[in-house]
Amino acid sequence: PTQTLPEMITATVKAFGRRPALEFFGATTTYAQLGDQIQRAAEGLRRLGVSKGDRVAIVLPNCPQHVVAFYAVLRLGAIVIEHNPLYTARELRHQFEDHGAQVAIVWDKMVDTVADFPSDVRPARIISVDMTEALPTAKRLALRLPIAKARESRAALTGTPKLRHPLAWRKLLDRGRLSSRVPGPTLEDIAVLQYTSGTTGSPKGAMLSHSNLQANAMQGAAWVPGLVEGEETFYGILPLFHAYGMTLCLTTAMSLGAKLVLFPKFDVGLAAEAARKSPPTFLPAVPPIYEQLARAAARKTMDLSKVRFSISGAMSLPVGTVRRWEEATGGLLVEGYGMTESSPIAIGNPMGPSRRPGTVGVPFPSTEIRVVDPADPTVDRPLGETGELLVRGPQVFQGYWRRPAETAETLLADGWLRTGDIASVSPDGFVTIVDRLKELIITGGFNVSPTEVEDTLRSHPDIDDAAVVALPRSHGGEDVAAAVVLRSGATLEPEGLRDYCRSRLAAYKVPKRIVQMDDLPRSLIGKVMRREVREQILATTS
Ligand code: ATP
Ligand code: MG
Repeated sequence: PTQTLPEMITATVKAFGRRPALEFFGATTTYAQLGDQIQRAAEGLRRLGVSKGDRVAIVLPNCPQHVVAFYAVLRLGAIVIEHNPLYTARELRHQFEDHGAQVAIVWDKMVDTVADFPSDVRPARIISVDMTEALPTAKRLALRLPIAKARESRAALTGTPKLRHPLAWRKLLDRGRLSSRVPGPTLEDIAVLQYTSGTTGSPKGAMLSHSNLQANAMQGAAWVPGLVEGEETFYGILPLFHAYGMTLCLTTAMSLGAKLVLFPKFDVGLAAEAARKSPPTFLPAVPPIYEQLARAAARKTMDLSKVRFSISGAMSLPVGTVRRWEEATGGLLVEGYGMTESSPIAIGNPMGPSRRPGTVGVPFPSTEIRVVDPADPTVDRPLGETGELLVRGPQVFQGYWRRPAETAETLLADGWLRTGDIASVSPDGFVTIVDRLKELIITGGFNVSPTEVEDTLRSHPDIDDAAVVALPRSHGGEDVAAAVVLRSGATLEPEGLRDYCRSRLAAYKVPKRIVQMDDLPRSLIGKVMRREVREQILATTS
């Protein structure tokens, strides 16, 4: 990369000023308007004292103000810290304790939560954003988000004195435009502190530089054939606070002068309505979203005919989903792989006949991979054998915020990133992800891949979904346990299910305990949280 993120957006504003940059419930922001708002927000933040290297928290759903805030913070050389706005007070407080941002740009529904943090955690300045302020009333109503959970848990945190009135976003933008003499960041500066999903432990703040993020936006744009600058319509359904949405929706769209249609939550009805005005040409998502949209397209309630290429990541992509999506849209759906620590994409399937379903594809341009012995990452595994996947490339992060021990474990001295995922590589270079190292189950000396057992359970006609986890045994070791979601009308018959597994899997892989759940706990991006599944199984059986 040769441009930082703010240099890139400035160049796009210059080239595509009159074209639409953002669309939100039908309301359009042109690139010229976006550029102006970024300059104004940057000046407002500068007057609050934000300068190079400072950390600014953003707690917002996908909305135009989110995009403006993101680039305004970066323009000052400050660091953006993204948060899930639907986190509970407790979860958010942990992150604020960790990063210690002095300024926060917060969704108005969550302002009280942040303002109630203990005084040593609470940011000195809070800017309150009403994301509906430019919308007519009827559209505002459509925007209810499930924040009840966040509100409830506030009760635990009462007793801290309230902060002085938060500053309204509109006022922040009232203070003129930033002078072009104010220096911006360099390519090597940290742009974003991006928290990992917290699937295997508490979320860690990954430090991503301008160079990291720009490299991945360029790799992503090169991956998708035939994208035309100034002509594309991207759908921002994935949350911008997650690395996947930030790069594949936001920064890639902005680097191409695309129109980015923003959705504060995923809802088929909202997406279908937006498609009547602006049908998507590119729509990065995850398997559960592709499933729902494919059904809408098959029923002809949503126009997806302009989507030629689609990318799925963050979790494994079922072949059934690929088939339904491709039948419904006439386009191609391929799987990629990545993690927050690699900005996020490292590997992807070719967008063409050589793609290989069931694999995550081949390394991105300028990206190297290795498969090593998890016990000693200096020892490579022979080609075709499974081991821990390592990744090296311009998108690999700079380390975890204030976690030197975890950084040293994860980012090896010669630039290799330990992914913590078990993978194998075919002789012609296609990568298959087996499981996470931490989620492998060790029972009686054997390794069990939860994914393999889940796939088997899901193939049973009564089973809609399944999650397989390890349960500790009282005398050491682990047992295989499963949570299953039944298809409507089916009843759970553990013994029958076990017989079914026994005829397809080695005996040690068959779940000892099977419990029923109405739904599997998922992160906002849709990943099954096996850690929570395990806790729920333990709670129901103790
Ligand atoms: P934490 O690191 O906090 O435990 P996390 O690893 O889920 O959480 P992310 O960075 O959002 O946080 O996710 C990266 C992980 O997602 C990868 O390490 C991998 O396990 C999984 N993943 C990503 N893409 C795929 C894919 N195509 N198939 C299977 N797993 C995938
Ligand atoms: Mg991880």
